[in-house]
Amino acid sequence: MSDLSGLYQELILDHSRRRIGDGELADPHATHHELNPTCGDEITMGVRLDASGTRVEAIGWVGDGCSISMASASALTELATGADLERVRQLIDGFRSMMRSQGAGEADEDLLGDAIAFHGVSKYVMRVKCAMLSWVALEACIAAASAGSAASSAPTTTT
Ligand code: ZN
Repeated sequence: MSDLSGLYQELILDHSRRRIGDGELADPHATHHELNPTCGDEITMGVRLDASGTRVEAIGWVGDGCSISMASASALTELATGADLERVRQLIDGFRSMMRSQGAGEADEDLLGDAIAFHGVSKYVMRVKCAMLSWVALEACIAAASAGSAASSAPTTTT
């Protein structure tokens, strides 16, 4: 088990350095700012959907905070970019359940990929918000972006 947690720690460190998605997104369909006052982490996330409005075309974020919050945003961007919205909602639900597990059970690696590295973080109540920050921001973006695209695609529903 200690080998495994070492591996997870490395994955988190790796993502905190790579910061996939770091940078403001051009022409986002929705943006959302999320703050974790407990730790001081903050993130502004932008999402652009594809032409059909059902798939995440691009994610970009600007953030400042602890390595867990930044690594989590990076792992999330890697997982959610190119995914359809249904999949993204599954990812967010899966990640949220894992972060509420307090370290119990097993994480769903097939669904969550690198993000299972945060399973161990769920034991530390104070850090759960750090890991959840970007996921909550993305959830808000998806809700806003899909509401917007539903409205703009309304005329085509008559076909
Ligand atoms: Zn934090």
